[in-house]
Amino acid sequence: MMGLRVLFSLSLFLSLGLPTARALPAPAGRVTILYDAFGGRSGMTRDWGFAALVEYGGKRILFDTGNDADIFARNVKALGVDLRRLDFVVVSHRHGDHTAGINYLLRVNPRVKIYAPKEGFGVFGADLPSSFYRRDSTLPDSMRYFDAAPPAELKFGTPWPEADFHWIDSLTEVAPGMAIISTVSTTPGTLELRELSLAIRTPEGLVLLVGCSHPGVETILQASRPWGDHVHLIFGGLHLVTSPDSVITRLATALHGQWRVDEIAPGHCTGEPAFAELRRVFGRRYLYAGLGPTTEVP
Ligand SMILES: [Zn+2]
Ligand SMILES: [Zn+2]
Repeated sequence: MMGLRVLFSLSLFLSLGLPTARALPAPAGRVTILYDAFGGRSGMTRDWGFAALVEYGGKRILFDTGNDADIFARNVKALGVDLRRLDFVVVSHRHGDHTAGINYLLRVNPRVKIYAPKEGFGVFGADLPSSFYRRDSTLPDSMRYFDAAPPAELKFGTPWPEADFHWIDSLTEVAPGMAIISTVSTTPGTLELRELSLAIRTPEGLVLLVGCSHPGVETILQASRPWGDHVHLIFGGLHLVTSPDSVITRLATALHGQWRVDEIAPGHCTGEPAFAELRRVFGRRYLYAGLGPTTEVP
């Protein structure tokens, strides 16, 4: 909303007599892409995957952790990002290109709170009441689970048993003005995969961070509605890498015209043809968000 920002500062200038340079409203926050396969600057390595640092309202949030812990470490150091100073982490979904950097994250900040999708048998661990399985008391105890005396709750493992995971399966406010949106994919290939997105309330509408949008970005937009009825800006992957032009054109047009998304900053699995189409549809409201540079948010 650069136009509005300029208008706002102009009116402030007229009403207060302040010099315009000082009257420009400071951005409330910013998003820095730490992991992606395009863009970059010296010291950073491009790779397939996604991670972003979100700084908003005094909070520092890591969203996803990339595809390779060593590359993630290099990119974080190249940008001088201090992962010891984080309020919390959101891991969008269980795929390796979003989770592998957890290994580096935990070396730097072992106690950090990590919000992760709640899945029965995913990679973030889980627990279930042992009543989930059917009993058969005609069997000898040696054939029965736990000698017929199971614990009340069964725990399921994770590759990161030391991590402080907090499982999310519904819209959850995690900080003032910040919520995690939970959606589940119905797409073949990622069927039943739960994905988390971060939705931040700003004066211009929601700023949304998405990992891969496996459930579909429109499903995520719909699920964010109870938190805010207007989405101002979307960062992240829209998963159109293999989609035909017809699908890409319909979605780009719908995001702009029907969903009234103001600005778009796509990355990761959005795909090259979708970058082109979204840039055509959004024009100057298409924000470049490759590896490295920081994007200010209102
Ligand atoms: Zn994925
Ligand atoms: Zn991905």
